[in-house]
Amino acid sequence: MYPLDLSKKVALVFGVANSRSIAWSIANILHEAGAQIILAYQNERVKKSVEKLVSEWDNSFLVECDVSKEENVVKTIDEVSKITKSIDIVVHSIAFANRDNLGGQFLKTSQEDFKTALDISAFSLISIAKHSSKLMTNNGGSILTLTFQASNRVFPGYNVMGTAKAALENEVRQLAYDLGESNIRVNAISAGPLDTLSSRVISHYHDMKNAASNRSPLKRNITHDEVAKTALYLASEMSSGVTGEILHVDAGYNIMGI
Ligand code: NAD
Repeated sequence: MYPLDLSKKVALVFGVANSRSIAWSIANILHEAGAQIILAYQNERVKKSVEKLVSEWDNSFLVECDVSKEENVVKTIDEVSKITKSIDIVVHSIAFANRDNLGGQFLKTSQEDFKTALDISAFSLISIAKHSSKLMTNNGGSILTLTFQASNRVFPGYNVMGTAKAALENEVRQLAYDLGESNIRVNAISAGPLDTLSSRVISHYHDMKNAASNRSPLKRNITHDEVAKTALYLASEMSSGVTGEILHVDAGYNIMGI
């Protein structure tokens, strides 16, 4: 049990596909801290594994949301409003690019593939923030998303997803400004490489892991739990003065020159 009490808080978590999803580690720690959890899963394909993950939790709910269409987000938030009067925490842990774009030359990115990656991985934060913030009526809330250092450095293979992360990080700052008056904070965790369904398909992913473990000040890779602990901090009152921030959980890799 972690020493932060989130009982009476409701968290809506997007992006659990399986037990390795970063969103699952975050949902777990928020649940351990006492929050009620509503998981928004992408589609039927992942529903069974998500149902299995929460089977031992009472007081949790599942809703479906494919964020490729804003109207789906509207529908999901409407469904959430029937489960709870208000929400306090939203976790956006979603990204997608066609597999062909996660290797080879960035130069070859097609217009269609660019749109897909940016739409799912970056625009979705705007639509989720826009619609979910309407339910943050209990003295504000905390929205957090997941990014990667390829937003401002070249990681061969990460390609168009780096462009999406650059957009996402900019959105964090602009949304933090727009929602600040409502006491809604918006932050991102820039995580080091972690083995998940999504990361495994990035070519050079293992080079990224090796570079991080060899060259970061802590001389190791990070764990899912370390990202979850930072998410818990950002979701809680402990971070009440923090918004628009990109917080690195990467064993310090981002500070290195060589
Ligand atoms: P993951 O595959 O477990 O999670 C990605 C999630 O995105 C899945 O749950 C998937 O269902 C969801 N998703 C994709 N398209 C969607 C759509 N159209 N509608 C709704 N949901 C959709 O992988 P992960 O590594 O846990 O990724 C979560 C986030 O963390 C991503 O933003 C990723 O870029 C970021 N991140 C990952 C790493 C890493 O090394 N794994 C590092 C830094 C940041």
